[in-house]
Parts: sequence; C-alpha cells; structure tokens
Amino acid sequence: MNDTVNTFEAQQQGRPTGPLVQGYEVIIGFETHAQLSTASKIFSRASTAFGAEPNTQACAVDLALPGTLPVMNRGAVERAIRLGLALGSTIAPRSVFARKNYFYPDLPKGYQISQYEIPVVQGGSVSFYLDGELKTVRLVRAHLEEDAGKSLHEDFVGMSGIDLNRAGTPLLEIVTEPDMRSTAEAVAYAKELHKIVTWIGICDGNMQEGSFRCDANVSVRRPGQPLGTRREIKNLNSFRFMQQAIDYEIRWQIEQLEDGHAIQQATVLFDPDTGETRAMRTKEDAADYRYFPDPDLPPLAIAAEWIERVKGEMPELPRAMAERYVREHGLTDYDATQLTQSPAHAAYFDAVVGAGAAPKLASNWLQGEISKRLNAQEIGIEAAPVKPAQLAQLIGRIGDGTISNAAARQVFEALWSGEGSDVDALIEAKGLKQMSDAGALEKIVDEVLAKNEKNIAEYRAGKDKAFNALVGQVMKASQGKANPAQVNALLKAKLG
Ligand code: ADP
Ligand code: MG
Repeated sequence: MNDTVNTFEAQQQGRPTGPLVQGYEVIIGFETHAQLSTASKIFSRASTAFGAEPNTQACAVDLALPGTLPVMNRGAVERAIRLGLALGSTIAPRSVFARKNYFYPDLPKGYQISQYEIPVVQGGSVSFYLDGELKTVRLVRAHLEEDAGKSLHEDFVGMSGIDLNRAGTPLLEIVTEPDMRSTAEAVAYAKELHKIVTWIGICDGNMQEGSFRCDANVSVRRPGQPLGTRREIKNLNSFRFMQQAIDYEIRWQIEQLEDGHAIQQATVLFDPDTGETRAMRTKEDAADYRYFPDPDLPPLAIAAEWIERVKGEMPELPRAMAERYVREHGLTDYDATQLTQSPAHAAYFDAVVGAGAAPKLASNWLQGEISKRLNAQEIGIEAAPVKPAQLAQLIGRIGDGTISNAAARQVFEALWSGEGSDVDALIEAKGLKQMSDAGALEKIVDEVLAKNEKNIAEYRAGKDKAFNALVGQVMKASQGKANPAQVNALLKAKLG
C-alpha cells in the first residue's frame, strides 16, 4: 500500500517536531479494536456473552458454512454512528464490506469480513490534555469488522484447541494518523479513546476480557527526515503494558539504528514477563490479503435521518462537560478532567453541587477522601457508601462553621464505615461541634490571656510566634472545638 504510506507522509508535513530521545523523534500511530456492546454477533443471532464454554456460541453463519448468509446487525452500525458523531468524523452514507483473506486456525472460513476501501467512519479526531497542553490526534478511519476465534494452547499437550465463540463478535477498528510523539502521548490518547467509547456506551471497555485492544505502530527518525520504518506492537490490553512495550520498542529501534542496522517492518508481541517486544512475523502487505467486496453483503447505506436521530440521543461528551465545569464552576482544567473521568463520577459531582455544596470543595472531597477509599477498596463510585446528599451536608457543616476540617474527616470516616448515616447526628454523638457561643469562647480567651503574660509581652514586642502560641492554648483549652478563625479575631481584638 505505497499510496497509504505516502499519505501518512504527506499528513505529517508542517507538524511540530516532538521531544527527542537520544536525538531521535518518536512517531506513533494506533489501531484500536473496540468490541461493540451488542448482545448478538455482527452478522448472526449468536450471543456475544463472554466466558461461555468453548464453541457453544458460534453458529453456522459465524463459520460461513455453505448455504448461510450474513445479515448486518443494526445495533453495531448505530454504535459506529455514535463514535463518528462523538469524534467529529464523516459518517459515510454508503460503505462497503470486504473480505480479507488469510489462513489461520482460528479462522476456518478463510476470510474475515471487514471494510476496506470505503469504511463507515472517516476522519475526525481525539483531543486530550497532556501536562496541561491540549493535544489532538487525527483519525484516518474507523471500520466495522468481525472478530476471529481464539487458539487455546494451555490444557492441551502437543496440540492446540480452537474456541470459535468470539468468531463474528462485532468490532470497530479505529485507526489514527501517526500523530503521536511520545509514549506518554500515546497512552493518554488510548485512555481518552477508552473513556469516550465507554462514555457513549458502545463498548464495555473491559481490557482484561479483550473488549479494548490496541496495536501501537512505532517508528523513530532524525528530525526533518521522512517517516521511519514502523514495527507494530499487537494486542496491548493494559495501559501499563502499553507504556512498557512502547518504551522498550523505542529504545530497541534506536539501538538498532545506532548499531548501523536498518529496521525491518514487522509485527511484534510484547512479553510482560521479560518486558521486551519480539518479532512475530514480517509484516504482510495489503495486497497479500486479496481484499474484494463481500458478495454476500449489500453496501451499508445510512440515511441522514438515522444519523440525525442518533445525534439527538448523544450524551454531553466528557471534554464538553469538563469545559462547562471550568466555565460554570471556576474549576481548573485538571479538576474538571478528573471529575469527568466517567459518567458516574460526573453524576456524583453534579448531585453534590446540586444539593448545595461549593463546587471546589465537592471536587476536593471527590479527588481526596473519596477516590483514596475507592482505590483502596477497588470499587467504583456507584458503590461509594457515602451518598452525594450526605457529602453535601458535611461540606455545608464546614462552611457554616459547625465543624472544622479535621472533624469533618472524622464524620466522613464514620459515614463511610457505616457507623452512622446522619451528618448532624454524628457530629452530636462525637461531640465535634465547634464552639459557636461567642460568650463561652471569650471566657476561654480571657483565661488563657490571664495565664500567659510572657506570650503577650513577646507578641507586643513583634514576635508572631507568640501569637500562634496563644491561639494554640485557646484551641487546647476548648478541646479543639473553637473555630480557629474566630479565635484569631478575638485575640487580635483583645491584644489591640
Ligand atoms: P496496517 O497496519 O493494517 O497495514 P495501515 O497501513 O493503514 O494499516 O497503517 C496502520 C497504522 O500505522 C496507522 O495507525 C498509522 O498511523 C501508523 N503508521 C503509518 N506509518 C507509520 C510510521 N512511519 N510510524 C509510526 N506509525 C505509522
Ligand atoms: Mg496494522
């Protein structure tokens, strides 16, 4: 596909040089397979549920047995439309299915149904922040295709098993321009895409189960030179492995070039045990696949009204929502991005603010106490034992001076552990109320002043430390229940 290579080259003209590694610029392009969350397969009624007994969910159509015909799953097309709308792509009014012919044991039919010359989603882009800088990665295309089966190497001695349950599972392959310039940018792109496909409900995003798999194409070049030869790291199914694999691959390629060896185009696999990438096969060309339009499937026609209807059903997207949080609540880009990491996070934040809490404080609690506990317990925010209304009430009690921040953390812990469910009742039971009675506080202040003439003299002589010591004494005498701001004001007034 020399044309494609030249197009990639042309697309890179005029783009700024990325950060250099030992004098080399890193170039990365991604192909991501997102498994679409339909109940049945892309061209048959067989179930897509994960984890069934081998070969219980592949039907005659998935195997292309003689006499069967594939029928397009409308739900898969609608999910492709959603992605196209989310990424600002063109949705082709007419796209074509093609057969990609190759032999592999997990593909007994001898070809995969995919899209080749005319994919359903064309162009578009993914934007995200990396170290405070807005990055945009352009998409070439996203096309519909079926997954193949799986070879099973464990449990068999001297042979392999084949499980065809996955055959015919709907995939959307999302292909970028080689726009990324570092491992960090590539991982950030993959995370953002993962967020988007789960956010718009087209993919469950489960990486362990293979619902979201990335192939990273990596090359290096001296700045200003044409694109280098790429090697493609297949099937990265965790963000951590992705980072390790790309970092290793960059170092390996630079070492090869420095040693005077040319890079051979190849498909490689990452081995998490050694942290290395290893060549699996030399790369085949598109011509090797003998693509041709699938005679069993008519072109896929998408009416403008269908696209309009889906547009009306799209949720607000995470970037737009984050920008709105910045605008409406005065949050930083960082905070807003964290709060929009999933629809459930955003819904929680909205509910806390909706119940009257100050947005900045709601954001701090969510990213502090709450996320700390969610991570430790490995649960999602939907399962948080502290509900938005409770958090809002707690924040309100700090705001109106009833409790200090330290006391609020105690109440929060009690709510989280199920010790109680009512904020005010817990404050009462634990005796955490700050002293709001000005008369009582004044009495304590007077007592402390009467006993600390030395501190008073030092303060008058200009020693700030002495003032802090007085505040400390009052706080201690009040058993931590005095409001520090009130104590400060009272002391200042009394000391003149
Ligand atoms: P395939 O890998 O299936 O042959 P393509 O030829 O369409 O598919 O290219 C796939 C991916 O390789 C794209 O994501 C593209 O951005 C990336 N890519 C192309 N050239 C380079 C390069 N020189 N360095 C890094 N990535 C590249
Ligand atoms: Mg590829």
